Amino acid sequence: MSGPVLLVSFVAALGLGYLLQRRFEKTALIGLIFMLGSGVLALVMPKYNGFDMFNLFGLSMLFGFGISLADKRAKALKRQADFEAMKTARPQFKHCPSCRSPLAEREVDDKIRLACTHCTYVYWNNPLPVAAAIVPHNSGGIVLVKRGVEPRKGSWCLPAGFMEVGETPEQGAVREAGEEAKIKIEIERLIYTFAPPKTPQVLLFFVAKEIDQTPSPGSDATEARVFQLDELPEDMAFSSHVEAIKRWRQSVGR
Ligand SMILES: [Zn+2]
Repeated sequence: MSGPVLLVSFVAALGLGYLLQRRFEKTALIGLIFMLGSGVLALVMPKYNGFDMFNLFGLSMLFGFGISLADKRAKALKRQADFEAMKTARPQFKHCPSCRSPLAEREVDDKIRLACTHCTYVYWNNPLPVAAAIVPHNSGGIVLVKRGVEPRKGSWCLPAGFMEVGETPEQGAVREAGEEAKIKIEIERLIYTFAPPKTPQVLLFFVAKEIDQTPSPGSDATEARVFQLDELPEDMAFSSHVEAIKRWRQSVGR
């Protein structure tokens, strides 16, 4: 094999590897250096036949690169699938909130994440805490609110909402019950926690002390009322709320 042919074929092989993975491996780089060295030798030394220890070493390096490429490709595909699943859970941000440079998909801590192309910002997509309350009423039922906003607008659920900075989860649950059902509650205990597999949230369900107030709808709710336990809506907004109510009923034997 002549020097120029060797050069062209291996540069082409590496170019293909680069397109497949968009990343040079150390092994491939070393292999390329040896192949190039061999090619140059063949060009400057007419008696050199173009295949020797240099080429052998270079070829084995490229072989190793091929294996690592296939392995990395399989892992990258899985990470990409994880990333795509994560995408649906949040709006896709395009720019760094710190320096306004474009965000790009990059592997950080073994997962593909959105990261800044200029500064060190990484969009971690950590779950947001949601505080919810099961509020027993002295008439025997519990308080539910009808959702006035998406998702699941028009369906019933427990008073719940995203925690705000500076408040405890319990204070968050108290505040949400005040905002959505206009009731003043006191938290008794935590009954259930849940993290949906695809939505970046952590739900904290508390049980409040029994109230005798009449709820009325506030922010984000179009209705707020007491439901008796045997007339709870069939089509509740979130299955995690149903599970929390179930666990509370089991715990109090009702
Ligand atoms: Zn940035």
